[in-house]
Amino acid sequence: MRRLASLPVPLALSATLTAQTPTPARPAAILIAAGRVIDGRADAPQASVGILVEGERIRAVGALAQVQGQAQGARVVDLSRLTVLPGLIDTHTHLLLQGDPTAESYERQLLQQSTAYRAILGARNARIALEHGFTALRDLETEGAMYADVDIKRAVANAEIPGPRIFASTRAMAPTGMYPIVSPNWELELPHGVQPVDGVDQARLAVREQVAHGADWIKYYSDRRYYFGPPPDSVLRSWVNFTDDEAKAIVEEAHRLGRRVAAHAIGSDGIAAALRAGVNTIEHGDGFTDSLLDVVAARGVYWVPTVTVAQYVAGPRGGVWAPMLAAQKRAFQHALKKGVKVVLGTDVGGFPWTELNQAKEFEYYVQYGMTPMQAIKSGTSLAAELLGQSDDLGAVAPGMYADLVAVSGDPLKDITELQRVKFVMKGGMIYLTP
Ligand SMILES: [Zn+2]
Repeated sequence: MRRLASLPVPLALSATLTAQTPTPARPAAILIAAGRVIDGRADAPQASVGILVEGERIRAVGALAQVQGQAQGARVVDLSRLTVLPGLIDTHTHLLLQGDPTAESYERQLLQQSTAYRAILGARNARIALEHGFTALRDLETEGAMYADVDIKRAVANAEIPGPRIFASTRAMAPTGMYPIVSPNWELELPHGVQPVDGVDQARLAVREQVAHGADWIKYYSDRRYYFGPPPDSVLRSWVNFTDDEAKAIVEEAHRLGRRVAAHAIGSDGIAAALRAGVNTIEHGDGFTDSLLDVVAARGVYWVPTVTVAQYVAGPRGGVWAPMLAAQKRAFQHALKKGVKVVLGTDVGGFPWTELNQAKEFEYYVQYGMTPMQAIKSGTSLAAELLGQSDDLGAVAPGMYADLVAVSGDPLKDITELQRVKFVMKGGMIYLTP
């Protein structure tokens, strides 16, 4: 693994140390001379582009000669042989998890690792994500590590550790007995991978607690126990976890507090229940039927397929997990035809951060039928839209945060180029250079 450029010194700190200037120094302007730019929104790349960065934001983007005129005294970063894109965004991650292809691998982490140890690994994972070009993550629950995602987010925001911008969802929810760890030994009080929630009052209380402790998103598990219905349709079905009243209470309370809701929903029953409750995003969604895809297309609900984890766990888990791959691929292709908003999310943490680069998800999307440009948008501008951050993230445009990556080849010809980023900037700070 390549090393990061050393952690940038926080500007506020250097100002304090010198104790000379009353206001923190702004970083000098940076002019990026880009060979090509894929800006995350347009349908075609642009050649020979200047990107002027001032402080943590992009000030100007345009023809290099023109932007040079506005960039007197700026430090020039020569990326004239590279293609520059917006920082990548993964909308389904688990910083506090190190792979759980089997129940044993999951239980080992919850039973034998303290939350402190898990948070140290989470900090490492944040650095790996940034090195791979991911400048923002929606982290979809800590799997028993309580609110440690909010702590990692805070450490990154305070420039104590390198990492992406983190949108945290804290503990997630499932009813009693419907999420691991569940043991046949009723004498053991075992840790839970979620906050157990029963009844509408507890649902509202759990949302309030999680928001109070820093949740940007609310997540709940809509289903479990996946199985295929009879042919010829062979629909992927599931057992639904919450009553409709409970699920609606979660969503209503979250929305009342200004938070969006993600539902883990793999089987068609779980997807349908989550849509009845009014969630904003469907996670995994392997069991999408055409009629359910019509509902999400009409309502603008986002689908986050997490293909990388599905491919990773199919072998070790066996059983229904292998044929689920084919069901998901079929649903994915139907979703593209129907204009569903398919947004990039990997479920990294379900596979080890140290083993696979999250950007493999782009490759799967192209294999499953997206154009490379569609795949890039799903992991940049569309992901920013899911996050409600379209004014700040997901595009190379004036006013946006200067979150940028660059690759040496042409990702429109070879999408795997995104697995080999050569340059990473977040908020105007350079973390990786060619
Ligand atoms: Zn997940």
